[in-house]
Amino acid sequence: MAVVISESLELQGRPAAAGIAVGPLIVLGDLSPQRAASGSIEIERRDFESALASAAHDLSQLIARVEGDGSDMLAFQLAYLEDETLRSRVIEVLSNGVPADEAWQQLLNAEINDYRSADDEYFAARSGDLKDLRDRVLRHLKGGVLERSLAPGAVIASDEVGPTLFLEMDWSKGGGLLLTAGSASSHVAMLARASGVPMVVGLGQVNFQDHSEAVIDGETGRAILSPNEEQRNRYLLKLANIKQQKTWETAFLRKPARSADGVHIELLINVAAIEELDRIDSAVCGGIGLMRTEFLFKDGKPLPDEEQQYAAYRRLLEWAGEKPVTIRTLDLGGDKPVRGLTSEREKNPFLGVRGIRLTLVRSNVFRTQLRALARAAVHGNLKVMLPMVTIAEEIRQAGLLLDDVMRELKAEGIACARPPLGIMVEVPAVAIAPELYDEAAFFSIGSNDLTQYVMAAARDEPGVSHLNDPTHPAILKLIASVVAFGRDRNIPVSLCGDMASDPRYLRPLLRAGLRSISVAPDAIGRVKAALSEAVLSET
Ligand code: PEP
Ligand code: MG
Repeated sequence: MAVVISESLELQGRPAAAGIAVGPLIVLGDLSPQRAASGSIEIERRDFESALASAAHDLSQLIARVEGDGSDMLAFQLAYLEDETLRSRVIEVLSNGVPADEAWQQLLNAEINDYRSADDEYFAARSGDLKDLRDRVLRHLKGGVLERSLAPGAVIASDEVGPTLFLEMDWSKGGGLLLTAGSASSHVAMLARASGVPMVVGLGQVNFQDHSEAVIDGETGRAILSPNEEQRNRYLLKLANIKQQKTWETAFLRKPARSADGVHIELLINVAAIEELDRIDSAVCGGIGLMRTEFLFKDGKPLPDEEQQYAAYRRLLEWAGEKPVTIRTLDLGGDKPVRGLTSEREKNPFLGVRGIRLTLVRSNVFRTQLRALARAAVHGNLKVMLPMVTIAEEIRQAGLLLDDVMRELKAEGIACARPPLGIMVEVPAVAIAPELYDEAAFFSIGSNDLTQYVMAAARDEPGVSHLNDPTHPAILKLIASVVAFGRDRNIPVSLCGDMASDPRYLRPLLRAGLRSISVAPDAIGRVKAALSEAVLSET
């Protein structure tokens, strides 16, 4: 018998989640065998009902162990599955003699297309969740291999993978995802990044069938099918180095944020979702440097009311204890639209009615947020930060509104406190002439926006990503001058843009004089480790 040994095949896709995986290759399309129709309407109906029940059972089990963004998506799928109209529509098609799997597929495909073609981004993004749900029920109907039995540590190849399938797989022994289609901004990609599972998307047409082993480099978007010995060893070595580096960084998590020559740095964290706090001990950081409240405002969902916001802000303060918590008022608009709140007609949303510009126009929404913040302020060390400030008058107007809601709350006999009002330094006007904004209680440099506005290169435009460089001398010069101004005038200055989370940028930031930064929670160990090697007197 001839043994066919495949040639190694190198592929280039788009990176979606960093990390290296080397393991057996499993092609997901193989999982569900053909299903033979029974010919009996009764049996088809019974099989369909039982597949629905099993899928609902899977989802309920997943909901019990998943938090954050994943749990919203699971709740959406479960509610969809339990919708009585959907069930009766499938049964109606079944009653015409159509086999259960075909009837389910017909209806779900039509729904998926409707969602996909929606103008609204929220609905378009949900089409992937429906596809995931469709395939889950189909797998139960067809009795296919269930994801739980996939080899742990395997590299999974497919056109797309649904988020629940991802959540059910066992990633504890490594493994990764290799997608011919897919997107780096999908739900699965977000989940993969959060759980450290390497993922490459957009590989295009690939014949996986001739290969039984694969390597993924989620940093570069490279993949190798049937790697030869030299390639396998090279990547295994990289993997070992990454693991070693991670262990080294983890060891720093609980250590103070101190340079090699003993200078203490204030290291705060950026928070996007309240649930993130469940996984972080407040002892590992100096508090919260940025809470992006816009993530409480989900497109397509009702706006959170005062009570919901108060509960969320209070939770942050209680988590932090005595430590400072900087909560930023709504920064909607730009790349964060919310239907009914932000403008849909702007030609250039990044230069439009965004952040403080929007909240001053929508003062009812702003007042609700300020009331919730003033109420939460009695529970800890709260600071409130205004995004996209461009003229000092915006700080004044926000201050007057805050005074007004304070009067209102006191008159209503509700406990409240007036938090200090600071600003983001992210519009070049502020970074160039910070002296015009000296009524702000503190400055926090938003290097993401500052870079895009100074370099005239949109932060979400791949074609100009080479220009979107936060270490360009023009940006570092502005950062240094804002820090110097703050030091002169006793106005605290921090930096909460993404560059603070990247150890490569630590030295330039320290050189610019920064002694306070706010980083992504998973960067705490990494940044402390890099700091421990920096000699401040030499930066
Ligand atoms: C920034 O612009 O650097 C920042 C922290 O704000 P966001 O990324 O939310 O715009
Ligand atoms: Mg910003």
